[in-house]
Amino acid sequence: LSERLGGVFDRLTKKGALSEADVATALREVRTALLEADVSLPVARDFVARVQEKATGQAVTKSVTPGQQVIKIVHDELIAVLAGEGPVEALKIDNPPATVLMVGLQGSGKTTTTAKLAKRFTEKNNKRVLLASLDTNRPAAMEQLAILGAQIGVDSLPIVKGESAVQIAKRAKTQAAMGGYDVLFLDTAGRLHIDEVLMDEIQAVRDIAAPRETLLVVDGLTGQDAVKVASEFDGKVGISGVVLTRMDGDGRGGAALSMRAVTGKPIRFVGLGEKMDALEVFEPERVAGRILGMGDIVALVEKAQETFEAEQAERMMKRFQKGLFNMNDLKMQMEQMLKMGGMQAMMGMMPGMGKMSAKADEAGLNDRMIKRQIALINSMTKKERANPDLLAASRKKRIAAGAGLDVADLNKLLKQHRQMADMMKQMGKGGMLKQAIKAMM
Ligand code: GDP
Ligand code: MG
Repeated sequence: LSERLGGVFDRLTKKGALSEADVATALREVRTALLEADVSLPVARDFVARVQEKATGQAVTKSVTPGQQVIKIVHDELIAVLAGEGPVEALKIDNPPATVLMVGLQGSGKTTTTAKLAKRFTEKNNKRVLLASLDTNRPAAMEQLAILGAQIGVDSLPIVKGESAVQIAKRAKTQAAMGGYDVLFLDTAGRLHIDEVLMDEIQAVRDIAAPRETLLVVDGLTGQDAVKVASEFDGKVGISGVVLTRMDGDGRGGAALSMRAVTGKPIRFVGLGEKMDALEVFEPERVAGRILGMGDIVALVEKAQETFEAEQAERMMKRFQKGLFNMNDLKMQMEQMLKMGGMQAMMGMMPGMGKMSAKADEAGLNDRMIKRQIALINSMTKKERANPDLLAASRKKRIAAGAGLDVADLNKLLKQHRQMADMMKQMGKGGMLKQAIKAMM
């Protein structure tokens, strides 16, 4: 996605602000990417509209392309939608026995997820868990849950043939209370499609079971259908959260965005395989990356970083042009230099700096010195860093001692600071400063 957007914007000239046309061009690509990731059409449309509103008219940071800026807005918005308000809270399973009702279409992974959650709460949260299958629909469904339970060492309600789902739910509640269980998982029957009979049954179970949590299990590979399923279940039964399964598959997780946008309910967990420990807490950043495309996200993060650094360079440049250059600026520059591969490497990158480079070396500006000088600056107080003129003899002694160096070393640093400040001023007069700072960042 970012590559595509980059291409679009490379053809556009730089402007001071993102125009509506710029944004519209980029957002056509975004919309396509979302649909390719199986985000449902209304959700994609809505999402794009919100990004458009946020992006249009936003000032383009100099030295960042409009494309990069739109990508960042899209990425941030994606995470905002996926994450909802604040961190995802754990399941409410206090006040034992707490009932967790598992609902969803047939084959979505309810039974598997029920067992995975049971294992998790038993092992990680030290809870006593009881499993009960209410699936009177499929012949072997109850046995399936019992077998998984045995596999993970979690109790399941004995199977009694001929009971209705509601009857099983009642028996499970009694058993959970009498047996001193902390959590009761009720695994319900699904259907291939939503139908009235199914919804009526789940409603009746819900009324009997009074669940603390009702988790909708959705196949992460379901694209457009996910929205319909989610809104039906939420409307008829009322869900408290979502589990997305098969996120180990080829799907790009667009269902996640659809679910969030339509139900507003948190995605709690994702299923990442058939094994009992293939369950993870939902992470919005990861799914956002997946929706935008795995390769793209790396570039995206780098671009976002560039954005930040370009802004920092911009701020620094403004200070220098005003003739402001204190110890904090010097320290930041020195740290950047080391990051960039040292003094000589950095000077080499600046156009027209060959002569200056020799001069700087002569003045003792090399990597070993830089590290010692950073130590000296670290040993100054905030005030002293902002205003090096404060440094009288007694202060100098204290600072040098703090860095384990001599006052002579500090004097050298101060001299270099003055030279650098002069250099900055001179360069600020030409256009060279801007180039130099950009090269450094
Ligand atoms: P239910 O009908 O909703 O109870 O669905 P099941 O729990 O019986 O799961 C149907 C199939 O999906 C089984 O073969 C599971 O092993 C498989 N399954 C469930 N969750 C996942 C998952 O996260 N990843 C993968 N790859 N398969 C899963
Ligand atoms: Mg099942």
